[in-house]
Amino acid sequence: MKILVTGGCGFIGSHTIVDLLENGFEVVNIDNNVRSNAGALEGIEAITGVKVPHYQTDLCDLAATRKVFAEHPDIEGIVHFAAYKAVGESVEKPVLYYQNNLNSLANVLTCVEEFGVKHFIFSSSCSVYGNADELPVTEATPMKEAESPYAHTKQIGEGMIQHFAKVHPETSFVALRYFNPAGAHPSALIGEASFDKPTNLVPVITDTASGVREKMVVFGTDYNTRDGSCIRDYIYIMDLANAHTKSIQYLQSGKNKANYEVFNVGIGEGVTVLEAIRAFEKVTGISLNYELVDRRPGDVEAIYSNYKYAAEALNWTPKGSIEDIMQTAWQWQQKRPEWSFRSSAG
Ligand code: UDP
Repeated sequence: MKILVTGGCGFIGSHTIVDLLENGFEVVNIDNNVRSNAGALEGIEAITGVKVPHYQTDLCDLAATRKVFAEHPDIEGIVHFAAYKAVGESVEKPVLYYQNNLNSLANVLTCVEEFGVKHFIFSSSCSVYGNADELPVTEATPMKEAESPYAHTKQIGEGMIQHFAKVHPETSFVALRYFNPAGAHPSALIGEASFDKPTNLVPVITDTASGVREKMVVFGTDYNTRDGSCIRDYIYIMDLANAHTKSIQYLQSGKNKANYEVFNVGIGEGVTVLEAIRAFEKVTGISLNYELVDRRPGDVEAIYSNYKYAAEALNWTPKGSIEDIMQTAWQWQQKRPEWSFRSSAG
């Protein structure tokens, strides 16, 4: 079965391609490589032995996108990752985010309609919940106001798909609401390749340990949590990748209850920032140079998932611990190839 992956040179996309290939799927990739590097495909090939066909195409260009679908009329499923994802940048440049994330989705859906694609997996985010009133959040937890334009594009994206699904019963959709993905493939041939200065906790930790960054900061120690720092649900990247494969298989089996469903993809455990730091120190033996500072604006105090629905319906079980995340992220940091420090667009 042929799957079109969009954004397959990115962090979650590249790990998902590996998991799809290892589960017998054929993959075609579209990525404009504006914020990723096609070198990720070399890593994928080194791991799986498969050279994935790659189109350096911008999904905001409908004609170019259509051409890829026309060349592959046997595409049965799409895993749509391609999007901008920097929360802080989205606050600074909201139009860029609406333009990129929503135009690309609209064009992909247009092709789904025109080419009769059967299955569609959408990258959503736990940020759609905003500051949730109850923890852990279930799929039924009401969405609050989006805290950033990025989160808003995910809320709108889910809405677009939900409405599209109503008039397209021939296509089935799954939206996966990711919690905090981190870590790397155990081979360290692919990993998180933020070529900008990273702002997410795990790459900040590995940058600090390797000396790229002299010290790091812990944002906020006066939250109402067990040690005062924020709580997140860190999910090991290979488990998250596998949730996409399981979602495609679920839709293929026809066991889905509706043609649009939403699943939380986390591990159901809240880890504080200070606990994450200690986990890294424990697995690597390296002491991190960190400072306690004020809260970071826009941070939610605590969020973690109830993922029971995904576990039952998709037959999916996350296996990686915070220690596995730290171990593999550190291996990746030490072996990171040159390509992972820049985009390959242009
Ligand atoms: N964090 C931190 N120092 C950093 C980066 C992040 O203390 O240099 C904290 C951040 O305040 C949050 C948690 O780590 O509580 C996770 O942040 P990240 O940016 O990785 O994810 P998100 O905010 O999207 O959940």
